[in-house]
Amino acid sequence: MTSPQKIDPSNIGEQAQIKLPSWKTDAKPFVQIENITKKFDDFTAVDNISLDIYENELFCLLGGSGSGKSTLLRMLAGFEAPSSGRILIDGIDMAGIQPWNRPVNMMFQSYALFPHLTVNENIAFGLKREGIRGTEVKKRVAEMLDLVQLGHLGKRKPNQLSGGQRQRVALARSLIKRPKLLLLDEPLGALDKKLREETQFELINIQDELGVTFVVVTHDQEEAMTLATRIGVMNHGVIVQTDEPHEVYEYPNSRFVAEFVGSVNLFQGEVTTDEPDTVCVTSTEAGGVLCVNHGISCAPNQEVHVAVRPEKVRISEQRPDQPFNCIEGNILDIAYMGSLSVFKVKLPSGKEVRVTQPNINRESGGRFTWDDKVFLSWDMDSCVVLTS
Ligand code: ADP
Ligand code: MG
Repeated sequence: MTSPQKIDPSNIGEQAQIKLPSWKTDAKPFVQIENITKKFDDFTAVDNISLDIYENELFCLLGGSGSGKSTLLRMLAGFEAPSSGRILIDGIDMAGIQPWNRPVNMMFQSYALFPHLTVNENIAFGLKREGIRGTEVKKRVAEMLDLVQLGHLGKRKPNQLSGGQRQRVALARSLIKRPKLLLLDEPLGALDKKLREETQFELINIQDELGVTFVVVTHDQEEAMTLATRIGVMNHGVIVQTDEPHEVYEYPNSRFVAEFVGSVNLFQGEVTTDEPDTVCVTSTEAGGVLCVNHGISCAPNQEVHVAVRPEKVRISEQRPDQPFNCIEGNILDIAYMGSLSVFKVKLPSGKEVRVTQPNINRESGGRFTWDDKVFLSWDMDSCVVLTS
């Protein structure tokens, strides 16, 4: 048997010195978006957004179709002029500065590769246009091919590559001029699920290796969670929440964010207890009292929603011994998904609650059956109160 590792106080010192990500310090933001609005005639596509992005961030703009993500990205690139507001990159006001004069590149989707050029020529394109020639080009193309792990395919044409490989060529091409800021609009949208997941990790490694600031647009919440240092959730031209992935998921600030990022159960109710770190809500919909232990300011009798994620709900045959966050219902539906089971439970109010349970052993999927009476319960720190 090995003895437990002794704690070496000098290690603790080292850990305490771990460098904080720049967005957690008071470092100067690399991109400053100040009250940016974009109108197309009388339609407002981007509505008074202010946002700071820091060096080395992999910032994701996440939102549904038409929420204004691409428009915001195109304004950063300089393809679209803001109707009002200011964008500063590296401290410089970008007003009137043409796309090619910004320290920025935008990665277009794979179909933007030149079909008649080889991979090498496609990647070299931006350098050659700047008049760079000879060994310098060769060296930098080779570096880029290495970076995206396509070293052996430089002589192929785009139509001789898989979708994932074309995507990597597009990435190499957009990085060869060493932009300080790379903008990626749905970069993995054309890839199938498995390849997309693999490529997400590669993208993180590349970003990490180069230290370039990335702004990625996606409508895929899992992709945003995987990639991002921070996520800006967009809706109707507005960023409704900006936070680290964990915070966005665990502490959504509105029903919109709670529902857009992951799956959630929402119970409407009225505040009955409002103490500094406990809020209790009486919910007819849930058929009980729901208590939450995080400090959000509510008023007595205020109409709110309590949000709880399906994986945080316990399901049991016996009533658990807890006075709140414990409700009763009947199993309406069960879906066995292999790694987990999804239960739909109908409450006496008619409300349906979604519960997911990991199948921790082979039998656990079969514990319950249709119409079983069950109790659902969760902890005070597993739910949040939403006032909007
Ligand atoms: P997203 O990328 O989030 O799907 P977009 O930024 O592309 O959304 O578009 C936001 C809204 O602005 C959409 O309703 C879209 O139709 C509109 N829009 C975008 N570009 C133009 C344009 N050039 N002219 C008119 N409307 C536009
Ligand atoms: Mg778009």
